[in-house]
This record gives sequence, structure tokens and C-alpha cells, in this order.
Amino acid sequence: MHRSKHTSEFQTTHSLRALGDFFYRDALPTAVKNPQWIAFNQSLAEQLNISAAEQDTDEGLAIWAGNQVPEWAKPAALAYAGHQFANLVPQLGDGRALLMAEAVDHHDKRWDIQLKGAGPTPFSRGGDGRSAIGPVLREYLLSESMHALGIPTTRALAAVASGEMVYRDGGIPGAVFTRVASSHLRVGSFQYALLHGGHEKVKALADYTISRHFPHIKKSSNAGNPYLALLNTVAEHQAELVNCWLRVGFIHGVMNTDNTSICGETIDYGPAAFIDTYNPNKVFSSIDRRGRYAFSQQPEIAKWNLARLAETLLPLLAADASHHETPKATQKEEAIELATRVLDEYSEYCEQLWLANMGAKLGIQHATKNDKALMQEFLDLLHQQNVDFTQAFWQLANELNCTQTANIGPQSPASSLFHDRQAFSEWRQRWLERLIENENNAEQVQASMRKVNPALIPRNHRVAEAIQAAEEDGDLTRFHELLEAWQEPYKMPNSELEIELYQAPKVDEEVTRTFCGT
Ligand code: AMP
Ligand code: MG
Repeated sequence: MHRSKHTSEFQTTHSLRALGDFFYRDALPTAVKNPQWIAFNQSLAEQLNISAAEQDTDEGLAIWAGNQVPEWAKPAALAYAGHQFANLVPQLGDGRALLMAEAVDHHDKRWDIQLKGAGPTPFSRGGDGRSAIGPVLREYLLSESMHALGIPTTRALAAVASGEMVYRDGGIPGAVFTRVASSHLRVGSFQYALLHGGHEKVKALADYTISRHFPHIKKSSNAGNPYLALLNTVAEHQAELVNCWLRVGFIHGVMNTDNTSICGETIDYGPAAFIDTYNPNKVFSSIDRRGRYAFSQQPEIAKWNLARLAETLLPLLAADASHHETPKATQKEEAIELATRVLDEYSEYCEQLWLANMGAKLGIQHATKNDKALMQEFLDLLHQQNVDFTQAFWQLANELNCTQTANIGPQSPASSLFHDRQAFSEWRQRWLERLIENENNAEQVQASMRKVNPALIPRNHRVAEAIQAAEEDGDLTRFHELLEAWQEPYKMPNSELEIELYQAPKVDEEVTRTFCGT
């Protein structure tokens, strides 16, 4: 463990290196011409104990641009494979990312610090290893908004304009992004281990993952079969994550196995976006032509990705996997049965979480399967009548207390969002009857709904606006305004800006396509 010179606080480690260079390649960042600050996340830097000298200072600028490698860093590109839109690519790896170090916080938790867009690596496969400013700003805004929404996510530590152009369809200003994650291990890391190293490498990675992320497994009743417990735990985290996405209308957009984090954080914001009007089939990503990663597909896709993880773990899953006497075929059958059970349990857990989530959004405590019809009917109404997802749930809470709506719209809050008000009003009647069964007062129900239904989400047209201003005029004002306003998403919109950001896009403002922008 390294203690930085500047302060005794900032501690880094490089624990992944103990697994051997099978999993990474050393690579140095390539300096950029003229680094300029875009943003620095001071509160996150403080949480990681990054020294003041290496924060938003000249020295920090050089570090977070990749122009200077601090002594605590040992930059490396991680190796991984992945199914991209269901096609297996045996070797992907960090083509434009470098793991600098793992920061160790006060609770001994390790955080990967990674530069993105700091130049080519051994895994760049002909790419330039750079990032355009657009995807950097999108990832900064979205990941910090997700964090504020209380959703597990990688974080944004820094963004620096490179002063160089990157060439995609045309020339665009480049930038370097610093991402912080609980780790960058993905389903694709396990696939890489199996494909290139076999079961021993999978076992080494699984052991590392358990000790880094899920040490409780070693102590639990599942300790006899830690790899099954690992699969189960990853499945639970994925179910929880995807249900958070469904709660706020988030579409990841590229749920490839290499973009599926083992510790259950939202990672890789390429074409990610939030829905405005509710549509379960909604897709933003320009490359997702068949809707594989559409909004309501996300739980099934996470399950598909978990099945790919399970495949890599199969030889470790059978209870007696290490007993050589047991015939291999029997072990394999048992392993498949165990993995299948985990996947079935994932589906059941997802279903439970969906009910709990939708219940919370509608103010229904202890929702059961009997509430499903009421929930689905509301979503169907939103879909049929092109109603804004975020506004619908926000205004539904206002139905319980019409006096609080002064700033953001007309009276009888939710009904004004529907063209067919009669259909809404019939549903509303049944909803209010259901709420009465719980015997909570309206104020309590409203307060509980406010905790899960944001007023402000990073709407796609606003993100696009900030990116356009930065790309075309080098103007970051809107970016900073949005970044700040989206820090308190569950609050009643009050300021002029908040009220503006609460609004859904007008038809001509809507941005319906996003691009990976690599
Ligand atoms: P992503 O779509 O960002 O998940 O990236 C998929 C793969 O392409 C990863 O292996 C990336 O490292 C790689 N990649 C994306 N953009 C670039 C780039 N500009 N240069 C090199 N590799 C890249
Ligand atoms: Mg990726």
C-alpha cells in the first residue's frame, strides 16, 4: 500500500495485480496538448482522501489529463471479453481506459480510479483511445444524477478538455474523463478468464471478487459453495440495479456482458438516456436497431448476462467439484441445475422488487401480486396517452394534496397530463380505494411517494443542449447548471431553473436518438 507524500490520508493499492498480468497490460497515458478544466468533483475527491494538491489545481489538471503519472499510480489496461449484442468478442479490454490505482477509503473500501480517453492501450484494436467531449459530459451528468437518485453507479471524479480534436464523423473536441468505480470487474472479465486461461483463472478471479466485494460469502452458510453464493449475490445485485433503472425510467442502452458490472453498479453511459413519455419498448441507442436493450427488456437482458456469468462458473458450482471421484458428467449436471435455480430465483426476486418498486411509486405499502393489475393499468394509460413518466408519478403524489402544486402546474395535477381524463379518473378512483386499505394518512403516503419519484431526471434534451453548447461554443455554463440542479432530484422544484428542468420536452425539443460516441 502506498502513502502519498502530500498527505498521510490518500492511500492507494493495486490489488488486482496480485492476480498476475494475465488480467491486465501496463500502459501509460498519452499526454494531451492543452488540458483545460471541465469539472472536478471535490466531494468525491474528499471521500477518497485525494490530497488537496492533486485536486482542482495545476498539478491535478496534469494528473487528470493523463499528462503526469503520479507516483501512487501504476496505469494498466484491464483485459476482458464480452457479448456485444449477443455476439461473443473473445478479446475486448480497456481500449481507451487506464486503471490508475485503487483508492482505499476510511472504511477500507477500495475504489478503482480510471482515466477514460487518455490514449491508446494494447487493447485499442485500431481505435484512438480517446473520448469526444460529448460522451464525457453525458457520463458526468448521468452518473452523478444516478448517484443523487440513490442508484448504484460509477462516479465522475474529473473531466478535462484535451485541447485536441478527435475524429469521429467529423472533428470534435476531445476530453479525458476520470471514473471511479467499486471495481471494473465485469461479466466479461470472467468470460475472458475462461476463454484465455481456463477454470484456474476463473477460480482466481472469483476468489478475488469474493474477497474484494462480497467477503460475507466466506463467513455465510453458503461458505461450502462460495462460487454458487457468488453467482447468487451478483444476481441479486443485478436484480436490484435493474429495478432501480425501471423506477426512474433509465435505459442503459448497451447492456453487453462487458458493460455488466459484477458489483452491481451502473457502468458505461455510452448511449444511456431517460425516457420522457412512457413507452416500454423505448430505445434511444442508434445502434440498437432491434430493440434488444429496450426499456422493459432490461430485467431479461440482465438475466441473459447472468447466464453467461454462470457458464464461466459451472465447473466450480457443483458441491463436490473438487472431488475427483465424482464423474465429471454428474458434476456438470448438478452445476447446471444449481445455476438454473439461481437464474429462476433471479426472476422471482425481480418480480418481487418490481411489485415493491411500483408499489412505492404509487404509495401502496406491502404491494402484492393482487396489485399488479392496478400498476400495469396505470403504465398502460401512460403508454397509450403518451404521458411523461416522471411527471405522471410526481403529479400523482400531488393528487393527495393539491395545495402543494402552486409552482408547477394547474390544479388537479395528474389528470391534466391525460387527454382521456375519464380513463385516468376511473383508474384514480380505484387507486385511492386501494390506498385507503393501508390506513395511512395522505400526508404520509405523499411523503413516501416523494422519496422514490424524482421531479428532476437528466432529461435527454437537456443533456443534448449542454453537449451542443460545449461542442460548438466551448460553453460549459449549461453543463454546470444542470450538474448542480440534478443533485436534489426528489425535492419540490422551486427555483426558476428547477421548474424549467421539471418540464417535459416539447415535441420539437425531444431528442430520440443517442450515440455511443466512441
Ligand atoms: P464501449 O462501447 O465503450 O463499452 O466499448 C466497447 C469496447 O470498445 C471496449 O473494449 C472499449 O475499450 C473499446 N473502445 C471504445 N472506444 C474506443 C476508442 N476510441 N479507442 C479504442 N478503443 C475503444
Ligand atoms: Mg464498455
